[in-house]
Amino acid sequence: MRMSKFGANFIPDKVFANIQDITPEWLLSKGLRGLAVDLDNTLAGYGQKRPTPDVILWIGRMCEAGLRVVIITNNAEDRVRQFCAGLPVAYVHRARKPFLPGFKRAVELLGLPPDQVGEVGDQIYTDVLGAKRSGLFSILVTPLHLKGHFFFSLRRLLEQPFIRKALQRDACR
Ligand SMILES: [Mg+2]
Repeated sequence: MRMSKFGANFIPDKVFANIQDITPEWLLSKGLRGLAVDLDNTLAGYGQKRPTPDVILWIGRMCEAGLRVVIITNNAEDRVRQFCAGLPVAYVHRARKPFLPGFKRAVELLGLPPDQVGEVGDQIYTDVLGAKRSGLFSILVTPLHLKGHFFFSLRRLLEQPFIRKALQRDACR
């Protein structure tokens, strides 16, 4: 199946099982110098107020390598402010992904050209779609929670053709 140009906006540039698999070395090898990272189900489970030690270390490794990180979430400011307290990151709240202004704001906060920014998120129809339309490198990760939940299963079903397409493409390289 050939995807239309618009259809291509739903295919992530890279798929990882989790954020820990995204390393500074790999990002730099792709010419990326900053990340806009989704919060819910990417960095934290729903209702998880503070980052885990793993997440703190991961962000620390990015910063040590000279990469910049900003958090981009559709969630409210209270939620993301509390999560980011003490972390060396700025944030965009109520980003209204997949609409473009939130992504633009994230890129501005990073102070980098869009093609040097990777967006990391767990949803095709918000994260991937908005990132690709904004000219960012889109990285899809497996959602942390909701596995087995009905709406999650439905969402994953709708996302599957695009995930499969990305994995097939990478297997052919
Ligand atoms: Mg999410």
